[in-house]
Amino acid sequence: MKTAAVIGAGPAGLSAAYELLEKSGDWNVTILEASPFIGGISRTIERNGNRFDIGPHRFFSKSDEVNALWDKLMPRQGVPAMDDVLLNRRCSLAEGGPDPEKTDRVMLRRHRLTRIYYLKHFFDYPISIKPSTFIAMGLARTWKAGWSYLYSAFFKRPEKSLEDFYINRFGKVLYSMFFEDYTEKLWGVHPSKIDPSWGAQRVKGLSLWKALFNVFIPNGGRKETSLIEEFSYPKLGSGSFWTALADAVREKGGKIKFGAKVVGVEHEAGRIRAVVTSSGERIACDAVFSSMPIKDLVAALGSAPEEVGRVAAELPYRDLITVTLVVDKLAIRNDTKYPTLGEYIPDVWIYVQDRAVRMGRLEIYNNFSPYMVDDPAKHVLFSVEYFCNEGDAFWQMDDSAFIGKCIEELKVAGLISEETKILDAVHTRTPKAYPAYFGTYAEFGKVRAWLDGFANLYCIGRNGQHRYNNMDHSMLCGFEAARALLNGTDKSAVWNVNTEKDYHES
Ligand SMILES: Cc1cc2nc3c(=O)[nH]c(=O)nc-3n(C[C@H](O)[C@H](O)[C@H](O)COP(=O)(O)OP(=O)(O)OC[C@H]3O[C@@H](n4cnc5c(N)ncnc54)[C@H](O)[C@@H]3O)c2cc1C
Repeated sequence: MKTAAVIGAGPAGLSAAYELLEKSGDWNVTILEASPFIGGISRTIERNGNRFDIGPHRFFSKSDEVNALWDKLMPRQGVPAMDDVLLNRRCSLAEGGPDPEKTDRVMLRRHRLTRIYYLKHFFDYPISIKPSTFIAMGLARTWKAGWSYLYSAFFKRPEKSLEDFYINRFGKVLYSMFFEDYTEKLWGVHPSKIDPSWGAQRVKGLSLWKALFNVFIPNGGRKETSLIEEFSYPKLGSGSFWTALADAVREKGGKIKFGAKVVGVEHEAGRIRAVVTSSGERIACDAVFSSMPIKDLVAALGSAPEEVGRVAAELPYRDLITVTLVVDKLAIRNDTKYPTLGEYIPDVWIYVQDRAVRMGRLEIYNNFSPYMVDDPAKHVLFSVEYFCNEGDAFWQMDDSAFIGKCIEELKVAGLISEETKILDAVHTRTPKAYPAYFGTYAEFGKVRAWLDGFANLYCIGRNGQHRYNNMDHSMLCGFEAARALLNGTDKSAVWNVNTEKDYHES
């Protein structure tokens, strides 16, 4: 038997281990996970009867292979969830699928409402042309936005930056209302300094012309990924799927070691011989699948050419702080036609554009799954995301002081009031939540070429490839890497995951 070491028990590592064990009986597989958790940044945390993710993760994939595994390990619901029953809401059901009241291994189909919160009003996400948009914007802003849009429609800027990209499609006024500040909050860099290709990848074919067209022919007869109105989500959070996949890996003979942070990777003549953990354990191996951050991997390998070491060491990331709160009520009411338990707002994600606050996105778990919340008719469970850089003032702020700041911001934005009772609050820090595409990323090819020189090393996953992956991309990297090893093919299929131009949601 040969030995494969898999670094990381997130979606990429688990998928590589699963595929290798599924397709071949010749490999011993050990997953080395630095943390005590399964699921990486897609894990779910349980506390006082409530569950939350590091920002809730919807399950969406264009890959049949990924969907097949999701369906196999966590079949789609065949019976409505508790809130749909109580509220008599329509929901999609899979014939013969499980009943969420009877099992936890079930994928729910949920209604997706995502809105922008700005000027203490809700706007459609993405923005759409309809009377309520203009009422919320006010006459003066609408007038200015209309003229600035027309100007941009006829006088296109050369697209040298993300700012140019947005202004060409939405006009300067709408850009400054809905994109400028949020983009800077998210990346810590002004859109004028970000490459325009980023917009082309994230804002799929949405423009005012399209929005106008949609008023008459909804979605132009087909679905843009940013307009999908239903999504899948595991009954007990995204992490519950990764626990199910970890169970499947163990059933096939794979081992998972927690607290096993890989700090050294030994190699000789272009092949990896062993990995070494921070406790000094040495695991000799015939192949390595690595989902640890590229910069850490290059450091662990040692002996990289100076250029490679420099590019890897300076790869940029954006880090994330979330504050998750349980409250009795919000200050905003459900003004939609969609009924909810407790008449809480039905949004899953809310993009907070208000410049007076630093928060970015807010997510309401009651609407992802009522089973995430201890009492979904009396309590609202939601997370607030703050984007920052590891080590900056936000990152270093004391947890309880940060929670206090977040509560104050929620009041300033008018999302909660003085009467709102805070029943619980949790602060989490997630380093390297977002691999970023600026700085030395432009020279990433040098790092990739050097790493590809190790015949039995496969870089997989979000930080493992420094790619802005969703969960399904990370799974596909894992599958492709296992197949490249078994079939003796090169690594191009592994690197080609998540490079197609028409994938992303906005
Ligand atoms: C706020 C937020 C919301 C998101 N929402 C969605 C969504 O709705 N849908 C979606 O599909 N995707 C979403 N994503 C993306 C998703 O989280 C990632 O694509 C996915 O978790 C990446 O999986 P991975 O295995 O590549 O990496 P990770 O999840 O980062 O897992 C890597 C694992 O490696 C371990 N590790 C790191 N270094 C070492 C080391 N030296 N030794 C051993 N172990 C190590 C880590 O502890 C971790 O467990 C979201 C991400 C964020 C930040």
